[in-house]
Amino acid sequence: MQQKPEAQGSLLAGEARGLRPLYPSPCSRECPLGTNVKAYVSLIAAGRFAEALALVRLTNPFPGVCGRVCPHPCEAACLRSEVEEPVSIAGLKRFLADYELRRGIIPRLAGASPGRPESGGRRVAIVGAGPAGLTCASDLAREGYAVRVFEALPVAGGMLAVGIPAYRLPKDILSIEIEAIKAQGVEIALSTPVGRGTALSTLVAEYDAVFLASGAQALRKLGIPGERQIRQGMISWADLLREVSLGRGETPGAVAGRSLAVVGGGNTAVDAARAALRAGARKVTILYRRGRGEMTAFPQEVASAEEEGVELVLLCSPVRLVSDRGRLTGVECARMKLGEPDASGRPSPVALADSEFIIPCDAIIPAVGQELDPSVLEGTSDVRLTEGNLIQADPLTMATSRAGVFAGGDAVTGPASVVEAIAAGHRAAGSIHRFLTGASPAGASSSLEETTIELPIAAKRARVRPAKLPASVRRTSFEEIEQVFTPAQAVAEAERCLRCGPCWECATCVGVCDKKQVMLIPGSATPRLLRVTPELHRALAAGGGAPASWKGEASEGTAFTVSVDERLCRGCGLCEELCAYHAVRVTYRREGFFSAAVDADACRGCGCCVSVCPTGAMDQGYFTDHRLAGQIRSGEVAVFSCYWNPALRSASESLPDELVRVMCAGRISAGQLLKAFERGAKGILVLGCSEQDCHYGFGHRQAEANLRKLGQLMELLGLERERLAMIRAGAQGQAQAGEFRRRVEMLESEGGNR
Ligand code: FAD
Repeated sequence: MQQKPEAQGSLLAGEARGLRPLYPSPCSRECPLGTNVKAYVSLIAAGRFAEALALVRLTNPFPGVCGRVCPHPCEAACLRSEVEEPVSIAGLKRFLADYELRRGIIPRLAGASPGRPESGGRRVAIVGAGPAGLTCASDLAREGYAVRVFEALPVAGGMLAVGIPAYRLPKDILSIEIEAIKAQGVEIALSTPVGRGTALSTLVAEYDAVFLASGAQALRKLGIPGERQIRQGMISWADLLREVSLGRGETPGAVAGRSLAVVGGGNTAVDAARAALRAGARKVTILYRRGRGEMTAFPQEVASAEEEGVELVLLCSPVRLVSDRGRLTGVECARMKLGEPDASGRPSPVALADSEFIIPCDAIIPAVGQELDPSVLEGTSDVRLTEGNLIQADPLTMATSRAGVFAGGDAVTGPASVVEAIAAGHRAAGSIHRFLTGASPAGASSSLEETTIELPIAAKRARVRPAKLPASVRRTSFEEIEQVFTPAQAVAEAERCLRCGPCWECATCVGVCDKKQVMLIPGSATPRLLRVTPELHRALAAGGGAPASWKGEASEGTAFTVSVDERLCRGCGLCEELCAYHAVRVTYRREGFFSAAVDADACRGCGCCVSVCPTGAMDQGYFTDHRLAGQIRSGEVAVFSCYWNPALRSASESLPDELVRVMCAGRISAGQLLKAFERGAKGILVLGCSEQDCHYGFGHRQAEANLRKLGQLMELLGLERERLAMIRAGAQGQAQAGEFRRRVEMLESEGGNR
């Protein structure tokens, strides 16, 4: 069942292990679908386009559509805008969908899951083949239900097919994405209206559940004097947009040569105006009663309309239609000012006294609101409507007042957006599934932990902008305006992503990152990312404990000093903060990126910076991670010791022969210790130094902090905490020899008892 990812259950089976997801990155939080933006953008940056698209499709069956028309609230939340401009997230999504198509690949969604007993031959009817209905159908088909969609029009897609014009959303993109849904086994009955055709009560009787997703296409009138007298010149936006989309009908011809006024400030008004211009209208003027900032149409679409020649008259509201024997000759308007906020939260328009004036025109398109076409409920009295003539549905379960009938999308919310309709389709599918399987209704929301997100240091790097058709060409053409990114542009744009926010254990990084993986320790005030190996990820995903096998290769180290892999460093500055010798500096390295650099003369080789590096970008001369891991012996207690530990000299005979020596106990990160368990270590003993003996002055604190983290991690992984011990040895090492022996023996027996 497709759900918002935060509820999906991580690929690491984290929920079963008590891992709790933190709030995801700001972009994902704002997406109504909770799409894992950071992950798919990272995959694009790595040139792994097919995987990125598969990830998008986990939550969105319409990437090609949303890449073009989504209002992209993700971009409004993108922290890159604090550096210069947000990442072009929608453009990248569009790139993925188009890249696949250009290579002739037929999009595929996950197919029906045979053998799911709970769906057991149950049938679901869906009314309306818009994004809400089709998404719900796709999810239910995947669960194994038999789904039939009833669509009044001769085409599927709802407002995507007959509302949003082709210059913003080419129809072949839509049909390809709908075909992928049909290929899942969804049956779509076109030209089959419910209400005036098949009665809703028949569907209720014949199907196990019904989802009403019939949108909000009934047009609102202007409600001003003179309206009823108009017999010539009143044009419906729905007719105009539907007919230009389907390429048939008389309305486009009826606007040709006209001077047209379009009333409204939403996307519908702006698209109607632009489509009329393309259909040959002589002059097109949008009349809107509030200011530009209050228009609900997307600002870039308003700007494009103006570029194309649409005139915008703001703070102006029609008060009367003027006609001559039924023929419209003009609109009388009043000038407005902005007053107190109204119920919508926007400033209310207030008419200025004696400000009326006439705008001459011979056609008008009212685009001032939409509501449910109630014909869908004809013959049914038990589905309640709201005061605004929309279907009343429980916001959580989407259940209507009639048992077994659910509703969502514009039919419930009024005109909204594609991505919200898709989200409603997912929620409805979840509710229907629960209703049919007798499961308890969904909880209000999953409890997520709030966390602060640090903005990584990043240099300015301009947003990549794809080419656009010039306005002069656009005026007369329905050809798509905005061009798609080239692969190189897409990678460059994806590289701008700051990857901010904590991960949510989706394990996508396993695929993105060639060498290192990250893992979150939840519950800590400042979540830390630790490196773990692919083997561990896989073992966790499979539900097992840490794997015994590990195939590390020792790499050649040349010095004690720390080296930085610039490709992995994200310039977070933790290393610089920790280094007591001021040997690490985060500096500008290459276009758009800062990276840590180590001053070899100043570096004392303790390696503590290595242990705090969240991305595994730092490694240390002779003490590389691979070398350390290569010293772990399966079935034995791994004893890590600081190279300078005084006990090494005074109590060496009581220590095991195979010590893993490091420059400082603080250098051993929790991830490295975890690796020792992966390699089959029975237990781990860390020999640190006391505060007075610490060669570096701060290593003992770092060692303790790392062990605390490892303890938390072990609990989450189901490893006994008793398998981990630390002793801080001082110069009086001889006296502690017995203690070393006792601890090692204890760890050996703990490990043996597992
Ligand atoms: P719809 O898309 O309206 O689909 C409902 C379907 O139900 C239709 O196919 C309809 O024919 C069918 N139906 C209705 N009654 C019956 C019946 N009785 N029996 C059977 N079938 C029936 N959103 C964006 O995110 N970005 C944009 O750029 C954008 N631009 C827009 C431009 C215009 C001109 C319009 C009109 C809308 C725009 N929107 C945009 C809004 C977006 O298209 C809608 O919010 C979204 O399509 C709603 O999806 P839905 O599935 O709820 O309903």
